[in-house]
Amino acid sequence: VGNGEDDGVYMVGIDTTYPPFEFQKDGEYQGIDVELIQAIAEDQGFKIELQPMDFVGIIPALEEGELDMAIAGMSITDERKEILDFSDPYFDAGLALVTTKDDSEIGSLEDMDGKVIAVKSGTTGSKFVGENQEQYGYRIAYFEDSPSMFLEVANGHAQALVEDYPVIAYAITARDLELKAVGERLTDEKYGIAVLKGQQDELLGQINEGLRNLQENGTYDEIVKKYIEN
Ligand code: GLN
Repeated sequence: VGNGEDDGVYMVGIDTTYPPFEFQKDGEYQGIDVELIQAIAEDQGFKIELQPMDFVGIIPALEEGELDMAIAGMSITDERKEILDFSDPYFDAGLALVTTKDDSEIGSLEDMDGKVIAVKSGTTGSKFVGENQEQYGYRIAYFEDSPSMFLEVANGHAQALVEDYPVIAYAITARDLELKAVGERLTDEKYGIAVLKGQQDELLGQINEGLRNLQENGTYDEIVKKYIEN
């Protein structure tokens, strides 16, 4: 496993389920991240194998050499840049506060005092909510995947969750979830494809070149349009 240079197949970490970026349909993985990395691999002439895992396990798996790269709706952050190198940004995202559709009490973090916010472990959302907990006085419930986190709010065990806005927008429109985003966006973030820092310069160069080619020849737009209507 790992180290594509030896066996010619790069192991690519993806989140277990993160529509519209990665999700299973009829037993096959699809989504923006999945199609993008497949198209980059094809453009650059390398082979990949997808390795779905809980988001919190992806960076450790890169560090242990079980993965050669990750494309998982992963935000480029300064903290992660200490251990990872990122490709050029490929998607704009950021965090939103999300409640049930029929909630009329919560409009911002200010309204979360004494309430519970659900987050996914290892994410920028989890970090943001942790850092602001003292100021706003909420409790935090941690989950390993986004569907469990959505369920916790849908069933009323948590009053809100924090999630990337492209993901929540897709969940609401495409899957008819009874949730809504409230207030201002909490952060501005950009997704990048990650490799282990300082050890994959050639691969990272190929990823960036492939990404640029797909942006120039229209493939990038075609892939995004399949999942997100503008
Ligand atoms: N963009 C967020 C992060 O990088 C969430 C990613 C995810 O849940 N797959 O932490």
